[in-house]
Amino acid sequence: MKLGIVGLPNVGKSTLFNSMTLGKAEAANYPFCTIDPNVGIVTVPDERLTKLTEMYDSAKTTPAVIEFVDIAGLVKGASKGEGLGNKFLSHIREVDAIVHVVRCFEDTNVVHVDGSIDPIRDIETINLELVFSDLEILERRIAKTGKMAKADKSLQKEMDVLQKLKDALEQGISARAVEFDTPEEKAFVNSLTLLTAKPVLYAANVAEEDLADDGASNEYVGRVREFAEKEHSEVFVLCAKIEEEISDLDEADKKEFLADLGVDGSGLDRLIAASYKLLGLISYLTAGPQESRAWTITKGTKAPQAAGKIHSDFERGFIRAEVVSYDDLMRLGSYNAAKEQGLVRSEGKEYVVKDGDVILFRFNV
Ligand code: GDP
Repeated sequence: MKLGIVGLPNVGKSTLFNSMTLGKAEAANYPFCTIDPNVGIVTVPDERLTKLTEMYDSAKTTPAVIEFVDIAGLVKGASKGEGLGNKFLSHIREVDAIVHVVRCFEDTNVVHVDGSIDPIRDIETINLELVFSDLEILERRIAKTGKMAKADKSLQKEMDVLQKLKDALEQGISARAVEFDTPEEKAFVNSLTLLTAKPVLYAANVAEEDLADDGASNEYVGRVREFAEKEHSEVFVLCAKIEEEISDLDEADKKEFLADLGVDGSGLDRLIAASYKLLGLISYLTAGPQESRAWTITKGTKAPQAAGKIHSDFERGFIRAEVVSYDDLMRLGSYNAAKEQGLVRSEGKEYVVKDGDVILFRFNV
């Protein structure tokens, strides 16, 4: 799972990004994290994993992770190739969702690139670059499909979708805000991998004193919420500076520090939770003496594909999944006790994996 952090210069992107990569020793387990300085690996907090590790006395605990990519440098004119613009746009194309950091804090020491604090103008500046890039793609596609549609009438449906998207984008409306009725239309829109179709989370970066009421008394945040509602996007409030300050504290000190500020849970934890919700993600678990581990899947994933997250051989040779819910397992105290009660189910290829399923896969090699 990969999320891209975008936003104008000086809004707090690097500060937020640093808070993710500082004090994250466990991330060293992930080989790819040292390769690219613009990629941060964040572990998904999950208490269930701690409990499973205790129950199985596992030698190792491996949480699920989210990858964050710092896509700095997206500025006005990026879609025209200004300041390495197109390179940044191609980075955005690779992510599953966008975290758009918006400046909602006043600080005369921190210069704003456009001279004043105005979150909606800022959002629109960035969005417009993405819109321009999408329009270019659509125009090329319309020209190509238009030619083919002359001979193949069945392509007219695609042309209608392309035209509807183009009309919206020309009014500055993001593709994610355009409604389509049929699953075919939606699948076709997905296949276009438009930047403005990606789910977005607006991260309202506020001053420390605005954290306690979740930004309710900050009028900039109010405007961001209003804007996001119109395009069915999510907003969450954080203070990047605080995140950076607490990033190398241990869990207990972090909790205490945040409690003093009147907040429960770090912005990073809330960002992870919001990303899971936005992307419709859940976790299933595997447990044993060697390792207890959480795996991220999309809601609706069937057992063989869930197994494929562990290894492609598991998916190819899938026979069945032995499944017990985390709650049943904890209530009964052991796998064997759950089995005796008939709560360990044998599930086949069509089984849709649930959040908190503890699974043992059976497969042919
Ligand atoms: P970027 O260009 O978007 O990556 O912005 P930076 O993270 O480099 O932040 C720009 C400046 O704003 C730095 O001096 C930060 O210390 C400051 N800054 C970032 N977040 C906050 C915040 O929440 N409050 C205040 N007052 N300053 C912040």
